[in-house]
Amino acid sequence: MAVSRRSLPARAVVLASRPLGEADRIVRLFTREHGRLDAVVKGVRRSGSRWGGRLEPFNLVDLLLYPGRSLYTVTQAQPLADYPRLRGQREALVAAAVACEAAAGLTSEHQPDEAVFDLLVEVLGLADAGLAAPAARSPFLAGVLFRLLAAAGLRPVLEHCAVCGGGGRALGFSAARGGLVCGDCLHEGAPVTPEAVAALVEARDVPLAGLAGRPPSAAAGEALRHLHALYAWHSGGRLRSLHFASATG
Ligand SMILES: [Zn+2]
Repeated sequence: MAVSRRSLPARAVVLASRPLGEADRIVRLFTREHGRLDAVVKGVRRSGSRWGGRLEPFNLVDLLLYPGRSLYTVTQAQPLADYPRLRGQREALVAAAVACEAAAGLTSEHQPDEAVFDLLVEVLGLADAGLAAPAARSPFLAGVLFRLLAAAGLRPVLEHCAVCGGGGRALGFSAARGGLVCGDCLHEGAPVTPEAVAALVEARDVPLAGLAGRPPSAAAGEALRHLHALYAWHSGGRLRSLHFASATG
């Protein structure tokens, strides 16, 4: 099949998918070349569709995208990875869903960011290899959310008080101020335990491959709640996939 001059090649992670009309879907993609964008997949919901399962959420695919007036249309899809083990393990599936939802919420359309793309591919690969902890208390998920916030320019301040800049012991976390706060500035934030401060530092410093093998902990769960508050403050909405994990985990 000849490549149309106007079709754009893109390597993409499928973040999400929703029905369109009777036979089509709109997929939300994070592409390496063009950042986040939505594209129509025509006929994908018909039985015997030529697309098969290639454009399911959390798949890594090479695509050709035909630009339309408001949306792209997927004209070719070549699967690269579909992470089959991830789909059979609940915690891994929740971790993948949280990462993809947060990436969608923290990025702007058509803003390429290769670091975010590489991070998503790393997260999906590690989740596919298996996670030790329930998502809501997962050191891995705290590390993922920390990195996505940092990539969006919202790197949580852990080094000094986010309000006064002082070096006093961290007693709170302020989503509005973007990090840990000292005792003098505690009125600006929610209380934080020393264990959660340590978990936030680990989320920042320990490679994701190391965090993936860590057991669940209350401290990681608390760190994740503070990071989630920071996410919600800036994105204007909470992560539905994380709410699901907390409600049922
Ligand atoms: Zn302070």
